[in-house]
Amino acid sequence: MTSFPSRALISRSAFAHNVGRVRAATDAEVMAIVKANAYGHGLERVARWAWEEGVRWFGVAQLAEALELRGYLPDARILTWIYSPSDDLAEALAAGLDLSVGSQWALEKLAGADRARVHIKVDTGMARGGLTMAELESCAERIASLEREGRIDVVGLWSHLARADEPDSEETARQIERFERARQVLADAGVVPQRLHLAASAGTLWHPAAHYDMVRPGIALYGLSPNPEVATAAELGLRAVMQLEADVMTVRDVPAGTGVSYGHTYVTGGDAHLGVVPLGYADGIPRMASNTAAVTVAGQTCPIRGKVCMDQFVVEGELAPGDVAVLFGDAATAATADDWAEATSTIGYEIVTRIGSHVPRVDAP
Ligand SMILES: *Cc1c(COP(=O)(O)O)cnc(C)c1O
Repeated sequence: MTSFPSRALISRSAFAHNVGRVRAATDAEVMAIVKANAYGHGLERVARWAWEEGVRWFGVAQLAEALELRGYLPDARILTWIYSPSDDLAEALAAGLDLSVGSQWALEKLAGADRARVHIKVDTGMARGGLTMAELESCAERIASLEREGRIDVVGLWSHLARADEPDSEETARQIERFERARQVLADAGVVPQRLHLAASAGTLWHPAAHYDMVRPGIALYGLSPNPEVATAAELGLRAVMQLEADVMTVRDVPAGTGVSYGHTYVTGGDAHLGVVPLGYADGIPRMASNTAAVTVAGQTCPIRGKVCMDQFVVEGELAPGDVAVLFGDAATAATADDWAEATSTIGYEIVTRIGSHVPRVDAP
């Protein structure tokens, strides 16, 4: 195997710690959200760890990910919610997946199934997926009859919160109210879902009234805050699971007035020591990090100088070839993914999720 000059260290102990933090916040069952390759951390590794920690429910967006996950976890409950009207659901049903039903076409696709496990998704305020309240009212009887005929098993009723990461917003209470109405609409038709679930990480941490039977944390399990302005990961007692690092390649000393990288958007103000870090936007490093973020080398903060390139960028610091530059990791030792997010006007979710799949994920020591 040829080596790669960068790697994402994935920490099992941090992950297990975060599972414990989430459990401490609720009595509800935990569904671990592992969509997008477990938020960039590696689906297989994270799923197995979660299973070993006693997690029995998993959620992924894409049907293809759910089928992949089934290969790793033969006995887990796996909910998937993105598939298209043209998808053949036979394979999903044969694999024992739980399917979200958030539209009338999805319901009708299951009209010939044999006890398909469905979670009725209702839109309580995202204007994204899910049956609108009017749609739910108009198809509640159909749901009931498909259940009576043994076509479907209504395992869940679920929805997603739009503003749970703003604890002061009244929108969450309004969504809970609509969720209760949806439950009533189903009950009036004779359908009583076994499980209700509404809360992702922010709902789990900040809205106990949204916990119901099961919570669906993603980002908190990976050790990042759903909203660092409300509370940082460290304040929440979460530990970063991913540490992204790379080996410094070349170093050089340059005089004052040296333009660095494309466009010379940085010009040295005095004599400077520069080093090259072999990661770039092709690896998922935001180009927006040009001149804004920094790496840590043995406790030394080394700012990015000039534009981030496709496969590399330049930093300033006392460096030697082979030094390990940590881009982000745990707050105790380096900048965090949330720090990078702030430096690049995005969210920590995007920072970790976009790290290219070709960057090796390895177990942290
Ligand atoms: C992504 C997602 C989650 C997890 O969200 P976090 O903010 O990462 O905890 C939960 N539920 C649904 C429907 C999602 O799409």
